[in-house]
Amino acid sequence: MKSTMQEAPLLVSAILRYGAYAYGDSNVYTYHGDTTTKRSFAEIYTRSSQLAHGLASIGVSTDDRVATFSFNHNQHLEAYYAVPSMGAVLHTLNIRLFADQLSFVINDAADSVVVADVGVLPLLARVLRETPTVKHVVVVGSGDTSVLDGFNVTVHDYESLIADRPEEYPWVDIDERSAAAMCYTSGTTGNPKGVVYSHRSTYLHSLSAISGNSLGLNKDDRALVIVPMFHANAWGIPYAAFMAGADMIMPTRFLQAKPLADIIEKLRPTIASGVPTIWNDLYHYLESNPIDISCFRLISSGGAAAPEALIRGYKERFGVHLVQGWGMTETSPLVTLAMPPRGVDEEGWMKYQLSAGKPVIGTEIRVVDDSGKELPNDGKSIGELEVRGPWITGSYYNRDAPDSFDNGWLRTGDMATIDPERYMRIVDRTKDVIKSGGEWVSSVELENTIMAHEAVLEAAVIGVPDEKWDERPLACVVIKPGLNVTPEELSEFLKSRVAKWWIPERWCFVSEIPKTSVGKFDKKVLRKDVGDGRVE
Ligand code: ADP
Repeated sequence: MKSTMQEAPLLVSAILRYGAYAYGDSNVYTYHGDTTTKRSFAEIYTRSSQLAHGLASIGVSTDDRVATFSFNHNQHLEAYYAVPSMGAVLHTLNIRLFADQLSFVINDAADSVVVADVGVLPLLARVLRETPTVKHVVVVGSGDTSVLDGFNVTVHDYESLIADRPEEYPWVDIDERSAAAMCYTSGTTGNPKGVVYSHRSTYLHSLSAISGNSLGLNKDDRALVIVPMFHANAWGIPYAAFMAGADMIMPTRFLQAKPLADIIEKLRPTIASGVPTIWNDLYHYLESNPIDISCFRLISSGGAAAPEALIRGYKERFGVHLVQGWGMTETSPLVTLAMPPRGVDEEGWMKYQLSAGKPVIGTEIRVVDDSGKELPNDGKSIGELEVRGPWITGSYYNRDAPDSFDNGWLRTGDMATIDPERYMRIVDRTKDVIKSGGEWVSSVELENTIMAHEAVLEAAVIGVPDEKWDERPLACVVIKPGLNVTPEELSEFLKSRVAKWWIPERWCFVSEIPKTSVGKFDKKVLRKDVGDGRVE
């Protein structure tokens, strides 16, 4: 029997329309250091319509790929809405990609237009000779654009392109399963792979993100969007916040601890999202430059495991809960979130905060052994994490990758456990786990334990070949300025905290752990620099 319900496609334009209609006076704040601009949701609607007209005037039509090469700001948000809503496909480019990867992803997606910040034009210019599909560059911000001279592209100024255009656009009525946006994995573990999100997946992911057991974004929130809009859709917040009527704060290029503290002090966000390295930097800055951060109801961390010491530090020193989530570019990205169960008191939170969380509505998770057999949710059995749901990719763009899928489940390449309460814990990435004498050492757990030492600012652990044990851990440590610690002291510290045979014999002290383009520890580079040179 068929239902009697209306067919209302789940489109990005519907999120835009709803946000502007119901929460037209909510705001998007863009922080430029000395100044902050404010655009209401109603204005974002108008400007998105004008951008769509502007893009149509330079030939953009259905299915054309429009790339962005930008920090987080209101113009980037306008592209997030205008491009999919006019039936084209938004492709967020990572501004920190190496030139060869950047030209690879532009060519793979066949981008025809790039909306780019004036400050990063030199980075774009490096690849324009090799990216013949790009015909137009729309420049956000004022400044010198001469670096684009001599290329076969027409250069437009963003504000001029949208000026005096009609304030309404006839948003296209398309199949909700059509492509809305695409993003490439950041390549931590190999070449970038393209993931294409649909209107439907975007809409459902946003609904899930605003639900009460998830991030619970709502009209009283003000979300500080630190995670770049080119990193897995800024974890979906630009769409979810619009749906929820939550204000957004866009920090542009001011992602260092000092300006972030300034933003927090001035604009009082209630929630924020970032990778652990951002929270670590901010924490250490705030230790010596304390400000009131009680405006936060929570800060969310994902992309890598957050160290226990950091979670404890935020709670004990600042009274703020750091809540971990797990996701990937392939999963839109939200899959699990570590909100504690009902009735858990403040002290009890920690156990759950240390996990990557339980699945949010719409997603399913499981762990499987090498033969693909599902393992029990006993909190002990370690297997590969597999996930499925309506916003989890079922294939890659332009690429066959049968090994990445298992009968409708996405294989994540992460080793994990799931406990009887359905909280999932990441043990390691399959490629990072260390096999010593046939037993596994979790590099994540080891580095997070080392980071609990008061003299340690950062620590990353990689496996190196060993004659006797096949592989042993090598710990690379960054010491806090003005402090000192020896390998013997660190080994002693670890004695009561991890299994004896996990304790590394090899230590190296470095001034900085190399980071990937999205701010995670870059073990590929570390292996090349201080390990055995093994690159996967
Ligand atoms: P890349 O795969 O290029 O690093 P992604 O940002 O898509 O790009 O990374 C997804 C990966 O990040 C996951 O497979 C997982 O290894 C890691 N990750 C994400 N969230 C967490 C978390 N809360 N704890 C541990 N690892 C995480």
